[in-house]
Amino acid sequence: MGSYAALQLAKKGIKTLVFEEHAQIGIPSHCAGHLSIQSLRKMGLYPLSKGILENTFCAANFYSPQGTKFTLKLRSPVTVAVNRTMFDQYLASEAENSGATFSLNSSVQSLIVYKGYSKGVNVRFSDGSVRQVHSKITIDAEGISSRLTRQIGLPTLRTNSLVYAVEAEFENVQNIDLDAVEVYFGKGYAPGFYGWLIPRLDGSAKVGLATNEGDPREYLNRLMLKHPIAQKQLSKAKLKKVGYHAITLGGQIQQACTNAFLAVGDCASQVKPTTGGGVIFGLTAANEAAKVAHEALAEGDVSLRILRSYQQHCNALFKFDFSVMLRLRRFLDSLSDEKLDEMLRVCCKLNVNEALHNVDEIDFQGKMLLTAVKKPAISAALIYFGLLYLSANP
Ligand SMILES: Cc1cc2nc3c(=O)[nH]c(=O)nc-3n(C[C@H](O)[C@H](O)[C@H](O)COP(=O)(O)OP(=O)(O)OC[C@H]3O[C@@H](n4cnc5c(N)ncnc54)[C@H](O)[C@@H]3O)c2cc1C
Repeated sequence: MGSYAALQLAKKGIKTLVFEEHAQIGIPSHCAGHLSIQSLRKMGLYPLSKGILENTFCAANFYSPQGTKFTLKLRSPVTVAVNRTMFDQYLASEAENSGATFSLNSSVQSLIVYKGYSKGVNVRFSDGSVRQVHSKITIDAEGISSRLTRQIGLPTLRTNSLVYAVEAEFENVQNIDLDAVEVYFGKGYAPGFYGWLIPRLDGSAKVGLATNEGDPREYLNRLMLKHPIAQKQLSKAKLKKVGYHAITLGGQIQQACTNAFLAVGDCASQVKPTTGGGVIFGLTAANEAAKVAHEALAEGDVSLRILRSYQQHCNALFKFDFSVMLRLRRFLDSLSDEKLDEMLRVCCKLNVNEALHNVDEIDFQGKMLLTAVKKPAISAALIYFGLLYLSANP
């Protein structure tokens, strides 16, 4: 999100410096890169170049822990899988081409705060030296660690809303539709969340899950060995890579800005509580942050009085959707495995797939629900249930 904010700032002619603690942008990656086409298009990021784009999807298969399958098939592709490392590197190179400067191997240690204003950051550089770097505005896109947001006194992420994810890359997965993402439910496999398999065209796949208890790697092993469907798909698969990271499902923090400081992305918990998808909301917020920073710099006033409009924009864009998605998250967490199985059976019986055929908005799920409720109540509930899990998510 930092690179995208930098791109938007640099395009407006603002002198922008990005610090990244790793040696390369986008590495390590901790994201399945499952994004909605419509949202990427709205941001001018679609179509994507071939190297970044791994696959496109017009379907999702949902499995209950008992193996009941419900397939949702849309008339055309609605989501893509991107190589997240290459996607981030593309955004960074666009930002550089627009005039932003990147400083790699540069770890921000803390904010410089003076009289309640962020005045820049203390950075540890690759030679071990720690130096002060002053700025008029700081945009924090540090991800889930959210140390700077804490230091400046903004609300912190809700720790009881974190889930812990494992994501692995496998070669040679079998029995899969290349145009569908696989979603596995069940408290025995991914309590508090779900498991996923996102296929690539070459027979490899990104496979992961998140849980709100226990060790995610043990749950992944169980999914591979015991799940009635996943174990067949993964029985001959070869593990290439595995990584771990938390996902914040608590909804956006109440205030993501203060004097000379704006927080975007995971550090502001701009992540969908239903699906854990954070890229589209994070990019949207980064764009808003850049606009407001530009206005503030033009006015020569970077106080909260001016920057507050960032929060107002985020609320207008996300607040309703977050409140609906938080309720849905609670609803889903409350379902027993038996109820889940029953719901998938009902979706199949009622032909929910047919009713959803033409849908293309899947990120802003609260607003989408408003449209859905115009249909008969029971269909609306079922339609939403299905659509939810096809959305751009891990
Ligand atoms: C397993 C998994 C799968 C996911 N899949 C999807 C998906 O399919 N679709 C989707 O939309 N979302 C997905 N998400 C969520 C998505 O990855 C995040 O919402 C998104 O990456 C947030 O971007 P960000 O820029 O805020 O944070 P990050 O991507 O975490 O980036 C933060 C950057 O800041 C750097 N940094 C941190 N601290 C410092 C410091 N002190 N100094 C300098 N640099 C620093 C880091 O090195 C990193 O480059 C997934 C999450 C997980 C864990």
